[in-house]
Amino acid sequence: MQLVCLDLEGVLVPEIWIEFAERTGIPELRRTTRDEPNYDTLMKYRLDLLKQHKLGLPDIQKVISAMGPMAGAKDFLDALRRDYQVIILSDTFYEFAMPLMVQLNMPTLFCHKLEADSAGFLVNYHLRMPNQKMEAVKRFKEINFKVIAAGDSYNDTAMLGEAHAGILFHPPQNVIDEFPQFPVTMNYSELRTEIDKASKRI
Ligand SMILES: [Mg+2]
Repeated sequence: MQLVCLDLEGVLVPEIWIEFAERTGIPELRRTTRDEPNYDTLMKYRLDLLKQHKLGLPDIQKVISAMGPMAGAKDFLDALRRDYQVIILSDTFYEFAMPLMVQLNMPTLFCHKLEADSAGFLVNYHLRMPNQKMEAVKRFKEINFKVIAAGDSYNDTAMLGEAHAGILFHPPQNVIDEFPQFPVTMNYSELRTEIDKASKRI
């Protein structure tokens, strides 16, 4: 049996924090792990900012819902799910991703969780485990799945390396240069072609 594991942000939906910063006009939310390498400090900073701006979970979900998936993502995913078992592995949070999952016909998503207080403000986050994308692929292999994985960024490269076949989708140039072992695709039709090719090979 073959399984396709897809990254979410940058593959099927926009980068949620960046797009959220644009839509709410809170530029400080554009801060990423490149600016603040300590993930815990960065997340606490983001959650504080949301509270300062009086954005509770329902407001946040409304903004995220309006973003929508990337153009063509739903058709690509619907067609892929007819031919493969597909699991989305993401470092985002269920509370953020759900409004977008609804628009993608509710594919299976493994990610992390946020914690809100009784007033709806986000007070904490819970990572299920470190390196969950790569660890998930490892476990799928242990239960005898052949795994094809695709993602766009650094945080996907361990998962791509662990899979029987790894594919880059619309990656930045530095990732292309640093990981020449993975084929590069720039749109959904190229990605589908590469998945089908890998499926015959593995
Ligand atoms: Mg990504």
